[in-house]
Amino acid sequence: MTPSPVAVVTGASSGIGAATARALAAAGFHVVLGARRVDRCAEIAKEIDGTAVRLDVTDAESVSAFAAAVPECRLLVNNAGGAKGLEPVAEADEEDWRWMFETNVIGTLRVTQALLPALLASGDGHIVTVTSIAAMEAYDNGAGYTGAKHAQAMLHRTLRGELLGQPVRLTEIAPGMVETDFSLVRFEGDQEKADNVYRGITPLAPEDVADVIAFAATRPSHVNLDQIVLKPRAQASAMRAHREG
Ligand code: NAP
Repeated sequence: MTPSPVAVVTGASSGIGAATARALAAAGFHVVLGARRVDRCAEIAKEIDGTAVRLDVTDAESVSAFAAAVPECRLLVNNAGGAKGLEPVAEADEEDWRWMFETNVIGTLRVTQALLPALLASGDGHIVTVTSIAAMEAYDNGAGYTGAKHAQAMLHRTLRGELLGQPVRLTEIAPGMVETDFSLVRFEGDQEKADNVYRGITPLAPEDVADVIAFAATRPSHVNLDQIVLKPRAQASAMRAHREG
């Protein structure tokens, strides 16, 4: 029996990452789940027969130790990330910006660099990066997050050219509104503010995004889905949604 190909999912302890780990396991991958809350990863790993390894993408040593625990890798899903704060540029918090750039941008760089040799050695690698519609537009009060997501997207899109001729596919997934802990993290645990983001709208569920990632990952090797934008029907852009009631 041939062993299952290995997929790494960063930020697999909740939301899109957790759902993606489950979807990829169902598609036949052995999934390595990485995040700081490794206990949560371990619970999911148990359920899907995967492996949980602690990972802090903002810490170079943690990324090296993680990569050392993953000698083989066919698919990397760069999903760890998020937003902090929603303020105009004039009032932006430097620490929040640092967190967003460290996590979304430098984190993606570190993990991609660490796993690229294994992806290339697999002979049929694939890098999926979860950016956002924030990587496509600017919106008021969001410059820290849109800036970080644009930078993360540029890293990913640049690799598409740099790896041309190598056996690695590149897929960027750019979701609109997905109901996860994203807004709770953004508003530092303020549940009311977080709930307000999804008021009067049916947002995407993490499983909706996971389905799309699993679809992209299971196309034949010569088929590269470059960029997939998915939004709730009621959302036209980051600033424009139709809300009931
Ligand atoms: P979430 O439920 O808050 O999940 C974020 C994940 O990132 C968690 O598993 C978290 O794990 C991980 N993470 C954060 N900092 C990390 C670090 N330093 N090292 C390792 N892992 C870290 O939110 P989500 O919506 O699923 O977000 C997943 C991705 O989708 C993010 O890149 C986000 O920007 C993007 N996205 C979300 C939306 C949305 O509306 N929800 C829309 C577009 C794009 P630990 O805290 O356990 O480390």
